[in-house]
Amino acid sequence: MTVYANPGTDGAVFTYKPRYDHFIGGEYVAPVKGQYFENPTPVTGQNFTEIARGTAEDIDRAVDAGWKAFDAWGKTSVAERAVILNKIADRMEENLELLAVAETWENGKPVRETLNADIPLAIDHFRYFAGAIRAQEGGISELNNDTVAYHFHEPLGVVGQIIPWNFPILMAVWKLAPALAAGNCIVLKPAEQTPASIHVWMDLIKDLLPAGVLNIVNGFGIEAGAPLASHPRIRKIAFTGETTTGRLIMQYASENLIPVTLELGGKSPNVFFADVADEKDSFYDSALEGFTFFALNQGEVCTCPSRALVDASIYDGFVGDALERVKLVKQGNPLDTDTMIGAQASNDQLEKILSYMDIGKQEGAKLLIGGERSDLGGELSGGYYVQPTVFEGTNSMRIFQEEIFGPVLALTKFNGYDEAIEIANDTLYGLGAGVWSRSGTQLYRAGRAIQAGRVWSNTYHQYPAHAAFGGYKQSGIGRENHRMMLDHYQQTKNLLVSY
Ligand code: NAD
Repeated sequence: MTVYANPGTDGAVFTYKPRYDHFIGGEYVAPVKGQYFENPTPVTGQNFTEIARGTAEDIDRAVDAGWKAFDAWGKTSVAERAVILNKIADRMEENLELLAVAETWENGKPVRETLNADIPLAIDHFRYFAGAIRAQEGGISELNNDTVAYHFHEPLGVVGQIIPWNFPILMAVWKLAPALAAGNCIVLKPAEQTPASIHVWMDLIKDLLPAGVLNIVNGFGIEAGAPLASHPRIRKIAFTGETTTGRLIMQYASENLIPVTLELGGKSPNVFFADVADEKDSFYDSALEGFTFFALNQGEVCTCPSRALVDASIYDGFVGDALERVKLVKQGNPLDTDTMIGAQASNDQLEKILSYMDIGKQEGAKLLIGGERSDLGGELSGGYYVQPTVFEGTNSMRIFQEEIFGPVLALTKFNGYDEAIEIANDTLYGLGAGVWSRSGTQLYRAGRAIQAGRVWSNTYHQYPAHAAFGGYKQSGIGRENHRMMLDHYQQTKNLLVSY
């Protein structure tokens, strides 16, 4: 076990700067309006740095810087860009601990996640898209003996990207890696809750990219995000966040008729079929483990398996064993490598989760475990911690239908396969789902029948770079990861030549 020292204290892996400006045209620049806002850590609730508060004027400057850089960057060879992406990956790998601690301190998630999942996945994304862009080919169609159509890929130009706070570096990288690989310049707006870790990352890699290729404007949604999404000189907007915000992004984008990709919310079902309990073996054990995944990353995962559906014939025994497993999910200081559940990312998020716990109680759901704020004592008393919580109820309740984005599980039972699928699909969302069974046929049928972009079978929560990820229904438009992402950041040019 390691407990990392708080950033800025004796023995710490690193120290934040006291202030983070915008990063525009290859340098740090103060906000045009001169305003800053405080950034607290969820670990203790204390402010640790201040952040430039961006406005439309800052977005304008960043878009200008992007277009200035695009002339040269858009013409670099794919080989040159692949080398740069691989160098970024190497630099991140050399600084793994630093990036992991930065993200943990700012977001509140356990360092064992940032060290072993978030940052390694981000590194792999750069390597994957470095390879994908090298492997991309154009096309030739022969129309007749002397007429040929050539198909080329061209970058879009300057693109806007707006990201949330739940995986600050990873969510940025999911968008940055394919956009850079395809030859675009970028204006990125981090979430106002977690901008500093992106700047820690940018500081590490900024010498690897030409000035203006990647610009970061901090700030709030309405003040900086809306001017970016509605800017007349961006060629695309990529957004990850809430479904309600996604609707606004589409409206802004419609003004300039630019393409959008939207990665939005979810209310993912995790379905446990009866044969899971045929034996109390290692498979049963992995299903119990799968039940606890609602608490991973404090439930702040878009694909959080926030609804558990258990076959009525095994319900009492399976749920009893699963709740014992939930009790083993160790909550503690996020900087301790033994900690499995840390702090919620912001005080607003903590309040929202507590209010949903009240809603659950008021609408008659039965509280099986948790249900309170956690006080971890000492300096952690000011942090934003809640207990992993399980409510039993029915799928029409608000806690089953609305995204809580916390470690709160809504649990219900079903009678047979058809009812399981009906309940699983009875939601506005369609992002993720889990199915657990010993029968390959049942896994396949359920996996195809559930309306979600990603269905895990007998596992959950893997996000490999080469597997397309995105939502059905109100969980989004478009996909991330996978080389198909390159299409979102490229135009197709067709030259039709008669010889
Ligand atoms: P949010 O929509 O409140 O904010 C996301 C980003 O949008 C932030 O940078 C914010 O400043 C900006 N924003 C807010 N209002 C805006 C506006 N009017 N115009 C432009 N930008 C605006 O979401 P959040 O609370 O930060 O993130 C949590 C949500 O993200 C959850 O719903 C979660 O499911 C979703 N999410 C989805 C995925 C996915 O891949 N589908 C991944 C992670 C998170």
